[in-house]
Amino acid sequence: MNAPAVEAIRRESLRIAGEKVHRDRVIEVTYPFTGEVIATVPKATIDDVRRALRIAREFKSSLTRHDRYRILMRAGELVAQRKDEISRTITLESGLSRKDSLYEVGRASDVLLFAANQALVDDGQIFSCDLTPHGKSRKVYTLKEPLLGAIVAITPFNHPLNQVIHKVAPAVATNNRIVLKPSEKTPLAALILADILYEAGLPPEMLSVVTGDPAEIADELLTSDDVDLVTFTGGVAIGKHIAARAVYKRQILELGGNDPLIVMEDADIEEAATLAAAGSYKNSGQRCTAIKRMLVHESVADQFTGLLLEKTLALKYGDPMNESMDMGTVIDEAAAKHFEAVVNEAIAQGARLLAGNVRVGALYSPTVLDRVDPEMRVVRQETFGPVSPIIRFGSIDEAIRISNGTAYGLSSAVCTNRLDYITRFVRELHVGTVNVREVPGYRLEMTPFGGIKDSGLGYKEGVLEAMKSFCNTKTYSLPW
Ligand code: NAD
Repeated sequence: MNAPAVEAIRRESLRIAGEKVHRDRVIEVTYPFTGEVIATVPKATIDDVRRALRIAREFKSSLTRHDRYRILMRAGELVAQRKDEISRTITLESGLSRKDSLYEVGRASDVLLFAANQALVDDGQIFSCDLTPHGKSRKVYTLKEPLLGAIVAITPFNHPLNQVIHKVAPAVATNNRIVLKPSEKTPLAALILADILYEAGLPPEMLSVVTGDPAEIADELLTSDDVDLVTFTGGVAIGKHIAARAVYKRQILELGGNDPLIVMEDADIEEAATLAAAGSYKNSGQRCTAIKRMLVHESVADQFTGLLLEKTLALKYGDPMNESMDMGTVIDEAAAKHFEAVVNEAIAQGARLLAGNVRVGALYSPTVLDRVDPEMRVVRQETFGPVSPIIRFGSIDEAIRISNGTAYGLSSAVCTNRLDYITRFVRELHVGTVNVREVPGYRLEMTPFGGIKDSGLGYKEGVLEAMKSFCNTKTYSLPW
């Protein structure tokens, strides 16, 4: 029998411009490993949302670049000081292992560091106008301004802190005002982050956090006249719903992925199998850029499969709070049951189960599935969990065709040293990223990131790109 995960249930409040607001109606947050309720968060009312949005629209920040730099750097220090506590909170609300949640807090510090430094960089351009016979002796200058209205940010469960900070930090760096609605499954890290930013000196009007039932409050967030931009990370279905509802608002949609790892016949197979295991199981396989399909050349498929199996069986999974575990649970029992069902369906259709597919509550074991057909549901759709489906192919043309053959286009990884192959993959894969001899998820928090097709509209995230999207560009010209 496990000891209770928490001593007392935490009763959380909304943060409306820094004010802590309680509501009688609440959402329970549970620890996926035991099913215990660990906290409650209020169900915000429509009036709560309207108030947060109105404050955000009306407030005009006078923070200098240096002020924003200092706030973001200070927030980074506070996150680092509270690393252990934040990591525990993430593990409790998501079931992610402590290894994964500690890694996530470290990434959040990087985001704050990059955003702080970018706040110092002048983003204007100068165009001389006497470049052609039609020109004049004038100059056009550009100026980046924060949006007039509020930014609404809606985030998923899989990285409770990192998804949030990728929206909040660039908003602070550009003097915008943001209203955040974190996932109702994992709202706690977002509330800690808000308190850290207030403590670091952020004017509270610049950030509100509303928790609640999306069926009740999402529409107000998407349609209010006080909102100029909606930035969303989550699944395709809700992303497309947002695209249809948030009419005449700037939309940044970072949606699902179905990323391949492609292993060619010349690859270092040990390296490929190491990347495969890391890319498939980190964060319990719940990353938009997790490896969700392994496309392996038939001449090396047996060797690759053997090595992947070894690495899968060596992975420790179980009690998320046990610091020696590589992998904790997935987000909830329903998700784990879904993986079990799609894997069973693939087995019934001829795939071979080599390891895993064992479920206890929300704990789902790392799973290797060989001889998968590209038409099976486990690889046609996004399987957002620790499943490694192996598809064998015979030529690069076939690999590219299979890779491009789903609705998604987020990222990809290719294992080869042949420049002719690399050139073709970079040119012909319909994705936002091609990583050679790295997992699809590899990036800096600052580099452009995002997908095409059903994975997104091609607008990128990452600190630099988010800062660009969150600004209006004004030009002015002067007669010299
Ligand atoms: P989800 O789409 O179920 O939920 C995301 C957010 O949308 C939550 O905050 C939820 O409350 C909110 N929401 C629910 N109904 C809504 C509505 N009608 N209007 C507006 N918002 C609403 O996603 P999830 O299950 O939390 O996260 C997993 C998904 O996120 C996966 O598909 C994954 O690939 C994707 N993801 C994408 C990226 C990326 O950068 N491309 C990163 C991480 C996760």
